[in-house]
Amino acid sequence: MVGGDPPRQPGVPQRCGKVFDSHVAGFSTDDVLALAGDKSFDRGVEYIQAVTDLETEGDAVCATVQGNDLYEVELYVGPAGLSGSCDCPWGKEGNFCKHCVAVALVYEYDRDNGRILPRRFDLRSCLELLDHGELVGLLMEVADIDRDLRRRLRERIEQR
Ligand SMILES: [Zn+2]
Repeated sequence: MVGGDPPRQPGVPQRCGKVFDSHVAGFSTDDVLALAGDKSFDRGVEYIQAVTDLETEGDAVCATVQGNDLYEVELYVGPAGLSGSCDCPWGKEGNFCKHCVAVALVYEYDRDNGRILPRRFDLRSCLELLDHGELVGLLMEVADIDRDLRRRLRERIEQR
């Protein structure tokens, strides 16, 4: 993600505050350094290339980082400033880990280059718009090719 000049989007000036989600705009590299500390910050820089699937969801930035495992990172920007969570061992102890650092830096880079981040797809809201018949049809389609789902559905129905 970082390295080389990003393609400029025609008509979108660099550092234009309107092109990204203003809810999650407000933090700087200094904030990230203060939260993480020197050591995690330096290690986080090495994980920048490992950040994928960066998306926004309300006040949160979500991404996946490939470390020793695949880690799910969420950053929040609230009234108290930036905070983050990660499901790696160090992150689970409540630390702003190197994976959080990497996501924050990639997000900042994209933001400062006027990139528009995709919003996380809200499957539940979309499904709630479908009517009963459509949902049954959809479930039948999936169950036809997924034996495990078929079995789980039958178990669920037999329990009623
Ligand atoms: Zn982590």
